[in-house]
Amino acid sequence: MSDDITPQAAGWAPDTLAVRAGTWRSEFGEHSEAIFPTSSFVFASAASAAERFTGNAPGPVYSRFTNPGVSMLEERMAALEGVEAGVATASGMSAILATAMAHVRAGDQVLCARNVFGATVQLFQNILGRFGVETVFLDATDPAAWTRACTPATRMLFVETPSNPLTEISDITALADIARQAGALLVVDNCFATPILQQPARFGAQLIVHSATKFLDGQGRVLGGIVCGSREHIEPVRGFLRTAGPSLSPFNAWIIHKGLETLGLRIRAQSEAALHIARWLREQPGVEAVHHPWLPEHPQHGLARAQMAGGGAIVSFRLAGERAAAWRLIDRCRLFSRTANLGDVRSTITHPATTTHGRLSPEARAAAGIGEGLVRISVGLEAVQDLVADLAAGLEG
Ligand SMILES: *Cc1c(COP(=O)(O)O)cnc(C)c1O
Repeated sequence: MSDDITPQAAGWAPDTLAVRAGTWRSEFGEHSEAIFPTSSFVFASAASAAERFTGNAPGPVYSRFTNPGVSMLEERMAALEGVEAGVATASGMSAILATAMAHVRAGDQVLCARNVFGATVQLFQNILGRFGVETVFLDATDPAAWTRACTPATRMLFVETPSNPLTEISDITALADIARQAGALLVVDNCFATPILQQPARFGAQLIVHSATKFLDGQGRVLGGIVCGSREHIEPVRGFLRTAGPSLSPFNAWIIHKGLETLGLRIRAQSEAALHIARWLREQPGVEAVHHPWLPEHPQHGLARAQMAGGGAIVSFRLAGERAAAWRLIDRCRLFSRTANLGDVRSTITHPATTTHGRLSPEARAAAGIGEGLVRISVGLEAVQDLVADLAAGLEG
């Protein structure tokens, strides 16, 4: 059996936790964490099997809900988010699904930010909506609107901050207060910031969800998700996973666990390069607006500074020439990858209006501020001067 060799994790800085927390070692003494590609585990006796199944004895049972490698990732992520527990899932979307299935029921109301990931809108509106959960979509930068929208049926508040693609910032402390008064849970999708730049639990969020597909892996290799929070709030999520099964594979858990070891280095470097590019973009003719939380003219710049340790790797900007100019820039890029993924060490470029946000109605897109001239980039680890040169060539008349 493997031993957890990180009981002393409390008090360590995030960079130490990212490398050392959630490390269990088998009798072989391996230095790098092992992978456990097995569906089930053997028991020493019938009595021991019974004890494990009821949860009275610790130890893995079946990889749908207990696998040592997956548990290591959960422990490392919980340590990074500064909470008690985590539960890993097959993708970011299944992390959000499992959170909702565990914590809301028919007749409940969910308040959700209008500018969340497209599939999150579909999940709440079209899937959970069919099971009697009503979702109201609100402006995440206007907490007063959330207070007004609360009813006795409100059970969950859901936000993504910074948001995609405009990097809008919502006030986690204010929303946590509103949730508490309503007897609801605040769930924050912390995908864009990662726990290195923002720990939502410090500001009162009860549950934190991640698409591990993005910065946590950081190299665009696998899909994964994770939900973090107190044991009390995580156990029902694990219960849903045990029954319904959108669990993370041991191999993908290992990839993400290894990815976390460089998370601090990556996100700080990518965040710095993104700010450099955002400042440069601001000076370019034909660029009408640039969105990045660390620019002083960002509408929630002060809030971002109070809540985050850096502005993140995502920048979006609006071109005067609308769709033609946006597509021309994207088509001319030789270094930026034309792909909708983000959070990768390879920089990517996307036209939100016709890809990630293409399923929204034109009215919903306009309400979300996503016009035809908007371009989103996710800044990776290439040399910043090469990235600037690629954009410069694409922007030339
Ligand atoms: C990508 C993404 C998701 C969904 O994650 P998958 O791993 O693709 O299922 C959820 N939220 C945000 C903010 C994302 O960027």
